[in-house]
Amino acid sequence: MTNALDGLWEKICDTVRLGMTPDAFQRWFAPARLMEANEESLTLAVPNSIQQLWIESNYASLLQDAIIVTLGDRRTVKFRVEMNGAGTPRPNAAGHGGHAVDVNGTPGSRSARPSDPAQASPAPRPTGTPAAAGSETTGGFNPKYVFSNFVVGTSNQFAHAAAHAVAENPARIYNPLFIHGGVGLGKTHLMQAIGHHILAHRKKARVLYLSSEQFTNEFIDAIQQGTLTKFRRRYRQADVLLIDDVQFFAGKERSQDEFFHTFNALFDGHRQIVMTSDRPPSEMQKLEARLVSRFEWGIAAEMQVPDVETRTAILRHKMSQLQVTLPDDVVRFIAERISNNVRRLEGSLLRLASFASLSNEKLTQPRVEDLLRDLLQEDAHNQVTIDKIQRVVAEHFDVRLADMTSKRRPACIAFPRQIAMHLARHLTRASFSEIGMAFGGRDHGTVMHACKLITGRMNDDPKLRSSILVLESRLKG
Ligand code: ADP
Ligand code: MG
Repeated sequence: MTNALDGLWEKICDTVRLGMTPDAFQRWFAPARLMEANEESLTLAVPNSIQQLWIESNYASLLQDAIIVTLGDRRTVKFRVEMNGAGTPRPNAAGHGGHAVDVNGTPGSRSARPSDPAQASPAPRPTGTPAAAGSETTGGFNPKYVFSNFVVGTSNQFAHAAAHAVAENPARIYNPLFIHGGVGLGKTHLMQAIGHHILAHRKKARVLYLSSEQFTNEFIDAIQQGTLTKFRRRYRQADVLLIDDVQFFAGKERSQDEFFHTFNALFDGHRQIVMTSDRPPSEMQKLEARLVSRFEWGIAAEMQVPDVETRTAILRHKMSQLQVTLPDDVVRFIAERISNNVRRLEGSLLRLASFASLSNEKLTQPRVEDLLRDLLQEDAHNQVTIDKIQRVVAEHFDVRLADMTSKRRPACIAFPRQIAMHLARHLTRASFSEIGMAFGGRDHGTVMHACKLITGRMNDDPKLRSSILVLESRLKG
């Protein structure tokens, strides 16, 4: 029985492999095993919940396609998380010599094992850590940015799980951790939550949080005042370095150089590094080129725009924290209409709550719309719609907008159309069938095929990959 299952899984994997890089396959699929198979479902055993989340959020359709190819129709995929002996997650354990930093301390190909940051020699805690600051100044820690205040939904569960894993096992699981995603989606919150968590459990850990801009400014000051040695000592002796918004290193050659050396010193000393950015590592060409080899030991987690349920949950959480209540229909209205940015969601809540507390007027729909007018407009501006995707893609490839929905099939038209479908799948919450409808009434299989094809080509063709990423950022901007 086991053999039959293994054989079946191998066949499925043969197809899965076509849609991803060998590295990604090694990392995400190689450690999985097929435990059960029946007419309805397949049950996969994976070593930890991150593995499951990652497969579900990134490769669900690829996996389903492979199942259809192998078995002739679809199956529900179930997961069973199997902890290894120590009961600790061991991401990318299998077949990945040296990539995983084994939590049990078994040497991989990287010989030295990290020492426990907690055992690092105590040093005075520099300003900027929670104990010293506890303030809300930019650059300091915000005491509210803790895990318990972070609402988890499908859009951020992977980033949350990765951040939590890092916080529990600094420098032992994912190093560096790179969190990326749009403005106001909770990157800084998660990053600081890691810092808070580590400090709560390891009081002597030297945890530094700062933005790449602050790093740059301090670096320039240090050069001017001749205190470079001190500057370097401070950052290169951190146990945990949290660098926010690394996109601001772009174009600042010397600061980037300096950061690169800091990064290397920390990395080689098995200290945890966490970075955030508003764009994926692949778009940060200079930085990536230098850090990319190192990223293999690390992980990039994307934060997406939360769905309406998560937005509602966030609103409810914030309301209970602020001890305010708004009528249900108002909460629903905000959650539905403010969709791209959690900070704006918070802003809306505060504005309505203060209005409600200051005036006796009832919060009617027109009143709410009036109070939130600017926020609603900003949000609509950022919304990616299939319409917008079709327009931008048609323009980019110089085809007619009508060809996005037409039945014409020459490759010079079909290919941009497939790219647009792929983008629609990634940037909107439309299902395969809905996308098919929007592209001239095509069926969901056509859209699935397009998405698979484009994903495959992006893996093989860095040029295509970067032009699709450019399109994505244009659409999101
Ligand atoms: P970013 O750094 O990605 O621009 P922030 O971390 O500053 O975003 O988040 C913006 C605001 O939204 C913060 O006040 C943060 O607490 C809040 N926020 C974002 N995501 C969540 C979430 N999932 N749960 C609770 N609050 C969140
Ligand atoms: Mg931020």
